[in-house]
Amino acid sequence: RTVIHWFRRDLRLTDNTALHHATQAAEQVVPVYILSDWKQRHGWTGPNRQQFLCGNLESLAKNLEALGSRLIIRCGRADAELERLIRETQAQAVYFNRDYDPYGRAMEKRVQELCTRLGIECHSYQDSVLHEPDAVLTGAGLPYRVYTPYSKNWLSLPKTAPHGRPRTLGPAAPATVTSLPLPTLEHWQLPPCTAQIPAPGERAARERLKHFISSGILHRYGQERNLPAGQTTSMLSPDLRYGLLSIREIYQRCQEALVDESGKPQPAAAQASIQTYIKELAWREFYMAILWHFPQVFEQEFSPDWVGLPWPGTDADFQRWATGSTGFPIVDAGMRQLLKTGLMHNRLRMITAMFLTKDLHCDWRLGEAFFMQHLVDGENASNNGGWQWSAGTGADAAPYFRIQNPWLQSARFDPEGVYIKQWVPELKDVPAPLLHEPPSRPGLPLAKGYPIPMVDHHTERDRCLAIFAKHKEER
Ligand code: FAD
Repeated sequence: RTVIHWFRRDLRLTDNTALHHATQAAEQVVPVYILSDWKQRHGWTGPNRQQFLCGNLESLAKNLEALGSRLIIRCGRADAELERLIRETQAQAVYFNRDYDPYGRAMEKRVQELCTRLGIECHSYQDSVLHEPDAVLTGAGLPYRVYTPYSKNWLSLPKTAPHGRPRTLGPAAPATVTSLPLPTLEHWQLPPCTAQIPAPGERAARERLKHFISSGILHRYGQERNLPAGQTTSMLSPDLRYGLLSIREIYQRCQEALVDESGKPQPAAAQASIQTYIKELAWREFYMAILWHFPQVFEQEFSPDWVGLPWPGTDADFQRWATGSTGFPIVDAGMRQLLKTGLMHNRLRMITAMFLTKDLHCDWRLGEAFFMQHLVDGENASNNGGWQWSAGTGADAAPYFRIQNPWLQSARFDPEGVYIKQWVPELKDVPAPLLHEPPSRPGLPLAKGYPIPMVDHHTERDRCLAIFAKHKEER
């Protein structure tokens, strides 16, 4: 019996649910990855994430080869390519892990229809989440609109243990089943990736997980996660984005980390840190559930109150934000970290997103797209959720008038300016306290070559509140 495993956002062999079931059910599993031809249609990714994808595919192909199998690469619409492959291999079933975003979902429907039409089996599995969107609902069976009650329910549900790693996928597909070469950025007509992105592949991801836990970052997470200087968080988001690590394995490692090597419970603060970390994993699934239940958030504001809200920010303002030259050191540091590494600390994502929407009054959709073009971990659900939360239009218990002051954020989370100086070297000789306030003499820059702040935060805060209030009044 031959079956196909369709790799999607699950580019690993260990604890891959659909792959596990495929190998149990058939003597030969033909692994396939189908490259999209999206570049012609939208600009929602860029060299950083695609380069990471290329590296992940290369690593996956090697790991499959080590098992005597061969990764088949195709390009085009998944259902059409799968149909071809089914005919070529005489496969009797297609296996895949479910994706919860609207594009993934729409394609799954087509693949299911294809299998029905061809009279073969179609098996899909829960894999990238601990709980699927429809498994975490209110008592009335409705989706949650705010995080806290969602997370309480999510935390209380039993979690599945990981599967192992398959020992074999059976013989490789014969040479008549052709494969495209491993992709490079040219496939999508993208320029080279110049950012220092994380090492790709399952093994590198496992090293990151190991480091996060064994170096104690997990155990200090509750106290340190908001500090952007140095590594204070797991840095596993790209691994989760591409499924280089299984969410079940991460969860299990967290549970194991509650006790030390001799089996003694960790101190209370360390245990609380681990719980805090697990709650962050719930945020990821919360936003996936929001996108699943309310797919309109892609185009419009989650909160109906704010649909049609004007965003009078200019293109020139946006460009200064995007290039990290606003004159607000903390904002510029965040944007430059993004440009140089394809990643940005969560606290900085909030600060920069709020600055763009509430100080510069630019449409959150512009920032959302810019992040998607640069982030290695670019994830539709989390990115949209994070942007709408920051813009004050999202699934959030707090009202729109929560506007963070970038100067105060800076003083609170990077008091010594270590993070700022790392990413904005022009400021390396500026004493820390001066980094957290507008220049005392207006018009005089903090350092040579560094711009003066492009706006006054208090003025823009008032303007933002006025825009929101007027919209509310006129509705
Ligand atoms: P850790 O602090 O170690 O957290 C562990 C994991 O929990 C993360 O890897 C991530 O999967 C999840 N997580 C943590 N915080 C959040 C959150 N607020 N929302 C959703 N999941 C969370 N995350 C993405 O994965 N992709 C995105 O495209 C993305 N865009 C964002 C845009 C904005 C404007 C904001 C405010 C947040 C965004 N986030 C996004 C969430 C968060 O910033 C990143 O998940 C986090 O910075 C990744 O670093 P880490 O793995 O070290 O996180």
